[in-house]
Amino acid sequence: MNVPLLDLTAQYRTIKDDVLTAMISVAESQRFILGEEVQTFERAIAALSGSKKGIGVASGTDALLLPLKLLELRPDDEVIVPSFTFFASAGAVVNAGGTPVFVDIDPGTFNVTAEAVEAAITPRTRAIIVVHLFGQMARIEKLAPLAERHGIPLIEDAAQAIGARRRIDGEWRMAGETGWVGTLSFFPTKNLGGYGDGGMILTQDEGLADRLARYRRHGGAKDYHHDEVGTNSRLDALQAAVLLAKLPSLASWSAARRERAGRYSASLAGIPGLTPPVVDEGNEHIFHQYTIRAVRRDTLRAFLADREIGTGLYYQVPLHRQPCFAGIVEGRPPLVATDQAAGEVLSLPVYPELTDAQQDWVIESIRTFYAHH
Ligand SMILES: *Cc1c(COP(=O)(O)O)cnc(C)c1O
Repeated sequence: MNVPLLDLTAQYRTIKDDVLTAMISVAESQRFILGEEVQTFERAIAALSGSKKGIGVASGTDALLLPLKLLELRPDDEVIVPSFTFFASAGAVVNAGGTPVFVDIDPGTFNVTAEAVEAAITPRTRAIIVVHLFGQMARIEKLAPLAERHGIPLIEDAAQAIGARRRIDGEWRMAGETGWVGTLSFFPTKNLGGYGDGGMILTQDEGLADRLARYRRHGGAKDYHHDEVGTNSRLDALQAAVLLAKLPSLASWSAARRERAGRYSASLAGIPGLTPPVVDEGNEHIFHQYTIRAVRRDTLRAFLADREIGTGLYYQVPLHRQPCFAGIVEGRPPLVATDQAAGEVLSLPVYPELTDAQQDWVIESIRTFYAHH
């Protein structure tokens, strides 16, 4: 039985009419840059994410890059960032002129801890990037006060965590609402994916939101008038229209991912050599990825591939091991939990359209593997 890691065509079949109607309406209007769809979408996502403002930009990478640009980093300015994340989290730091300082993760949740971040703070630290990895929030109630105590802006990279939340002192906190800014990606494979690139910056600071909204259109509020040198990084009206058509499904998609994840964790518990993902107490996980730790991971992966089961290696080569960062990690402390995770993680198919039969095939195949290997 074929079980792809993700099946976007299965999703498309369920929403095709709404999405095509939305796309046609943009085509009929011939208004493609910013405009009403983008504004409506920005307001909807800000509300969903507990934020005052959302600024639609060209990608999740630019959502990180634009706020970092405002910090006017110099080469010896440091930005703390996990090594166990997608490349963009650190690439944006370099493109903004600064130097990433990689920190280790908690082996259970794969998220950074306040302790690791605190140990990496120096007088040169200009920002902290926290990634809510795989769809569950890091312990923001510890990280935010730490950043505040040191007067360092906190950036929440919530590209994988749209709509994820965490109960703190009896109240829900949304991914992206607590930091100086939060950032989202609408890359097609994210939980809310467009039909191309897209991203958003979230903030509670209206002055900052206005500045970022100018910055994404060459630093001017009006055409041909420039207050500062910005860039061109806007969410397309077509993407906003597609995303608005998909948005009403997001809550049920996240619930379906949680249900699939619960089914995996119940069925895979107790297999020696396999550790299901840990959900930190207080978190509502959206399972962008369902990532197990597995001994003999690469053999298991090949075994599953033979049975037409797709899996992912997020992240096989952590950022501190990337050739492009070799110079900046020289002499830094080792990242033991990150290296260990890189050798053990395996992401399984967890999308809402995954059928019971497909999931049973994945579970049965994993059981068979560990019964014989
Ligand atoms: C996807 C992703 C990004 C970048 O988003 P793009 O829209 O692909 O530019 C940044 N950070 C993390 C953690 C991501 O998963």
